Amino acid sequence: MASPAREGDKIRCDACPVMCYIAPGRSGACDRYANEDGNLVRVDPLVIIEKTKAIGGELVPFLDRGAEWDGEIINTDDSFITAIGAGTTYPDYKPAPFIVSRQVDGVDMITVVTEGIFSYCGVKVKIDTDRHLGPERALVRVDGEPIGHVTTAEYGSQMLSLGGVHHLTGGGKKEGRVTCAALLDLCNGRPVEVAIDEGSTVVIEAGKPPIVNGVKEERMRVGCGSATVGMFASQWHGLVDEVVVVDDHITGVISEHQAGKVIGWAPTGIKIKGRRSTPGRYFQVAEPGTGWGGTNVDDPLVILGDFDPKVAKPGQSLLMVSTTGEQFAYYELGDDLKPQKQDMPDGLMKSVRLIEENCEPALCTVLFMGGAGGSLRAGVTENPVKLTRSVKDTLTRITCGGAPAYVWPGGGITIMSDVTLLPENAFGYVPTPALVAPIEFTMRREDYEALGGHMKHVMPLAEARAGKKAIQNDHVLAGQKGAASKQGVPWPTDERHFGWSKAAKKEPGT
Ligand code: SF4
Repeated sequence: MASPAREGDKIRCDACPVMCYIAPGRSGACDRYANEDGNLVRVDPLVIIEKTKAIGGELVPFLDRGAEWDGEIINTDDSFITAIGAGTTYPDYKPAPFIVSRQVDGVDMITVVTEGIFSYCGVKVKIDTDRHLGPERALVRVDGEPIGHVTTAEYGSQMLSLGGVHHLTGGGKKEGRVTCAALLDLCNGRPVEVAIDEGSTVVIEAGKPPIVNGVKEERMRVGCGSATVGMFASQWHGLVDEVVVVDDHITGVISEHQAGKVIGWAPTGIKIKGRRSTPGRYFQVAEPGTGWGGTNVDDPLVILGDFDPKVAKPGQSLLMVSTTGEQFAYYELGDDLKPQKQDMPDGLMKSVRLIEENCEPALCTVLFMGGAGGSLRAGVTENPVKLTRSVKDTLTRITCGGAPAYVWPGGGITIMSDVTLLPENAFGYVPTPALVAPIEFTMRREDYEALGGHMKHVMPLAEARAGKKAIQNDHVLAGQKGAASKQGVPWPTDERHFGWSKAAKKEPGT
């Protein structure tokens, strides 16, 4: 077993390039390692996911348990060792801190765990709102520092790309520090307020509604204006003469729309200011904003031109509504064919409520994204490219703190993981600056051997659970902590994840 270097009574941590010398009773710059009685201790507990139950979420100190394996055999597949609290492979010469074996349904399986130090990492954020948060490519800032940008919007959601190596290490010192702190908070499920150039302020918290300019977003739109017209056309027929669904992307007009035509909707002589795309579908009816349907409109009548006097009639009714049903208004044309606001008839109100009901709750989704570099892969195998191939061949499954990781096609190992599926406080940081994220590689023993795995360092899961230190480790663990397997999260060693299993052959893509 390796021992940390010493200078007087200080011990050196070499788990990242900062190489802290840590005095007795103190912790290093990242607060993840400490000098306890001359031992280098990884202070956060090793997290074990329990399939059937949580073990109370209590820290069980290894040091008090004598660190001796009592011979108890844990060959069942009820627990999974994560990399959270395990330590890293840095500075690259040593195998991953835990390489554990166990049997799963009669198959010898190996899991290699390590806390990866990710300089190339960031988060992709999906914010369910139609409101305009900022122009595409606008900078996203925290404390005035750029930490990312607005990227291409998706259906019903605005998207941000935050972090990445250029903000972490390519800008000023403060930019890197602020970016790293924001990423750490977002990945650990804490709220972060960002300000977008030429746009809004947004409080982002994974799994929670976004707060845009101080207002909590309630709903994600049911569809674009055109889709909403199509979905509700038959319910509106006979109740109102015209419906306009206001949307920054596609504003829908029912009397002109194909859905209205099919069910015999009569023309109304309405005129929409905007670029007509196809019948009943209009682009650019206003500027983007935080008003009706993600436009800058507070009074929807501003998007209308004059009604055609050859077609429109006094008394003709008009419903205008946004894509979430949050804004709505009812009008009747006066003798001058100008819309006059009236109380909404009960029958129409029901249809507006139906739009609201069909909207899903607005949420922020935060996906961690990182690239497993050479050092991380070297901790798994002496031949890193074989690990990449094994992952692509679905012989090796990657998880992040036990949560599923999507592996991007193409070269390298670039992963994405939903941060809400990981156990709490799964992420850490080092001041280089970089994020520390847990990553586990699980495969059959024979596949691990074939990819040049560190076979001499394999230990039974039971020994790791009992607190036995792997021979490659120069630090000790503070203890272990159980975390309940989250509902809906596939069990990491489930055989359907592996190309060799019959289940995977039946369910391609799992
Ligand atoms: S910053 Fe943390 S991981 Fe890096 S050397 Fe210091 S204590 Fe170790």
